[in-house]
Amino acid sequence: MSKVADLQSQEVIDYCANEECSAEIVFGQQATKRGKDLFCNMGCLCQAIGAVVITVKGGE
Ligand SMILES: [Zn+2]
Repeated sequence: MSKVADLQSQEVIDYCANEECSAEIVFGQQATKRGKDLFCNMGCLCQAIGAVVITVKGGE
């Protein structure tokens, strides 16, 4: 029952490897890992490797 303080002071483990983001990645957070790089979400990973999310349309 003494976990409240822990939740309020989340430990910063790393920073998003996307230089345009560089968000704090805290203990217990879900992050995306590529090699030794950590990204705060899939969008940052995609941007860093030059991938984009598209909607695939039929008919081609
Ligand atoms: Zn990020």
